[in-house]
Amino acid sequence: ELIRTRDAALRARAEKVVPGGMWGHLHAAKLPEAYPQFFSRGEGGVLWDVDGHRYVDFMCSWGPNLLGHHHPEVEEAAERQRRDGDCLNGPAEVMVELAELVVDMVGHADWTQFQKNGTDATTTCVTIARAATGRRKILVAKGAYHGAVPWCSPSLLGVTAEDRAHLAYFTFNDVESLDAAAKEAGDDLAGILISAFRHDLGSDQELPTVEFARAARRICDSKGAALLIDEVRAGFRLNAAGSWEGLGVRPDLSAWSKAIANGHALAAVTGADWLRRAASQVFVTGSFWAGAVAMAAAVATLKIVRRDDVPARLAQLGQTLRDGLETRSRQFGLSIRQSGPVQMPTLLFEGDPDYRKGSAFCSAMLARGVYFHPKHNMFLCAAHTEADIAVALEAAEHGFASVAAL
Ligand code: PMP
Repeated sequence: ELIRTRDAALRARAEKVVPGGMWGHLHAAKLPEAYPQFFSRGEGGVLWDVDGHRYVDFMCSWGPNLLGHHHPEVEEAAERQRRDGDCLNGPAEVMVELAELVVDMVGHADWTQFQKNGTDATTTCVTIARAATGRRKILVAKGAYHGAVPWCSPSLLGVTAEDRAHLAYFTFNDVESLDAAAKEAGDDLAGILISAFRHDLGSDQELPTVEFARAARRICDSKGAALLIDEVRAGFRLNAAGSWEGLGVRPDLSAWSKAIANGHALAAVTGADWLRRAASQVFVTGSFWAGAVAMAAAVATLKIVRRDDVPARLAQLGQTLRDGLETRSRQFGLSIRQSGPVQMPTLLFEGDPDYRKGSAFCSAMLARGVYFHPKHNMFLCAAHTEADIAVALEAAEHGFASVAAL
């Protein structure tokens, strides 16, 4: 029902000059058929595609949109910095201000360094852990996503066995498997890398248990290894001081990106004092890593996160959405599974191994101006309103009706 003339024309042109038309996770082929590939504009929690269709957006740029597109305070800070300069011979003054703010906000942080993408940050964490310990092995959870370079890419295409030679795997929230992997790594254990919560694609999300978090901490302490938390996706949505703060377990290193500068390209590593020397000695850099505009945007973003308690606001909106979806799914006699923190909702259908129900649901939502994802965790932003949630719930009735009719 949605007309896609412009989108189709752009896809045809892109097909000729961009391999496959688009790369990676943003390829529209990974979504139900009606979904657009190209977008023209965003405002607050709303998005327009190139054919002019408007969506209340629950992907939020896959995380970066935390406060809403074109947030006036963030954009004013960015614009002020842009007038002075962005990419200079070194960092601008704002880097120090941002570093002070990050160290002040993040519970475990004694220091911080900045990069551009989440993969830069997770890779830097691994490098620092290895440099500080002089060891090689990094334990990671099976199926966890930590980025798109050979050591961590979810695809093995173009990746050699040697790229992964010093990774060992455990199951998220499974203390026994973590102990076993640590035992196998022996004296060569450099670190354990764990996502803030389990947010694997297409499956139920899981918050870490206290026992699991403590076990990871215990193993690292007893072996002199580093506990690394990947906050790239969850950072600043659950708890601005760190997603594990509520568990009473602090990491040695964390990787941040996505929401940190409300859509401007920035990543950060935060670390504990014992890793400061290694962090100062490893060679990590990038042409744009000192970009001052994104840093100015991050200062503004993080001040708002703290001032307005953004995680609490997202939790409130997310709970309304979750409760509303549960009630409505029941009215249609459907069983859904909602998992993960309410600020980052995941909705899966019972008995839906090929996501056919999820796709039908999301397509119907899309046709009514609500952008959901059938497999991936979604994101709320502080620009969403109670009215937006109501629009989503009304669209969900059509979505559930479509699933019930399958
Ligand atoms: N870690 C996690 C948990 C992520 O969700 C992502 C991005 N989806 C990354 C790392 C990699 O970040 P980027 O795509 O910015 O390199």
